[in-house]
Amino acid sequence: MLSVKNAMITQVYTLSLENSITDLVELLSQRGIGSIVIVNGDNIPLQIFTLRDIPKIFSLNLSTNKIKEILLKLDKKDKNLITIKPNQNLMTAMHLMNKNNISHLPVINKEKKLVGILSMRDLLRHFPSIIFTDPLTQINNRMYLDIIRAKIEKTKVKLGVLMLDIDNFKKINDKYGHSIGDVVLKEIAKSLKKSVKSYDEVIRYGGEEFLVILYRCEEKYLPIIGDRLRNEIKKIKISGYESLNVTVSIGACIYNSEENLYNAIDKADKAMYQAKKEGKDRVVWTI
Ligand code: GH3
Ligand code: MG
Ligand code: MG
Repeated sequence: MLSVKNAMITQVYTLSLENSITDLVELLSQRGIGSIVIVNGDNIPLQIFTLRDIPKIFSLNLSTNKIKEILLKLDKKDKNLITIKPNQNLMTAMHLMNKNNISHLPVINKEKKLVGILSMRDLLRHFPSIIFTDPLTQINNRMYLDIIRAKIEKTKVKLGVLMLDIDNFKKINDKYGHSIGDVVLKEIAKSLKKSVKSYDEVIRYGGEEFLVILYRCEEKYLPIIGDRLRNEIKKIKISGYESLNVTVSIGACIYNSEENLYNAIDKADKAMYQAKKEGKDRVVWTI
């Protein structure tokens, strides 16, 4: 996973509380400058201004030109500045930006000093596939299917399609708590990634459903691989929760290039429900 330091810009435009709004506007009106960080004498960031703040400043009808006074008038003064550290990952940055509806994050070091700025634009430039990544498990999300679908439907190789659903996951959540449920989801994603080839696809298809697509998979391997995935997941142990056992039901089928990929997924899904009906913790496969 890429971290903030890979995508941040270290050349940050800063002003101090003693600067004026004229200084701010002069900088922000230049092409390529998306944000200005207000810092104190120790280079510790206090606030950030982006172009979005200008209409607000304009509407305040202030009698002062000092940034210090403007901050007092803007609602910004009550809000803590949201910052991020260089070693945090870009997914965390994305979360913060989403939660707070912001597009720039000042990056600070251990001493809380400003070391860079991360913008949404730079985040996307370095990590465009973030939009196809599931934040919890860090594997691909369902939207990603649409990306690989075209590629898959063009190739003439047989694919293995496996749909996995955690058994009694509601009970796991109820008994151990939702956050332990989340740990289980992460561990399953890790286990699946480890159990297939690096070029195969592991997708978080639903809340507690995973889709695995195996490239170049012959029929005879389908139940073998299905069982391998199932058995690897059974080995998952969460420290401190030794009584927690995870099993999955798997439905599998072979995708032939003639059909639509979603039909194959449908077939795997039906087989998965059959596995549930037959008692869970098993693989049901069709060709
Ligand atoms: P079955 O064996 O028939 O599959 O039963 P189940 O309990 O696994 O299935 P059910 O569909 O009844 O419940 C699915 C549960 O998955 C309910 C939901 O709260 C949980 N879940 C879905 N997404 C997440 C998530 O992101 N985190 C956690 N912790 N739980 C989730
Ligand atoms: Mg389910
Ligand atoms: Mg389930």
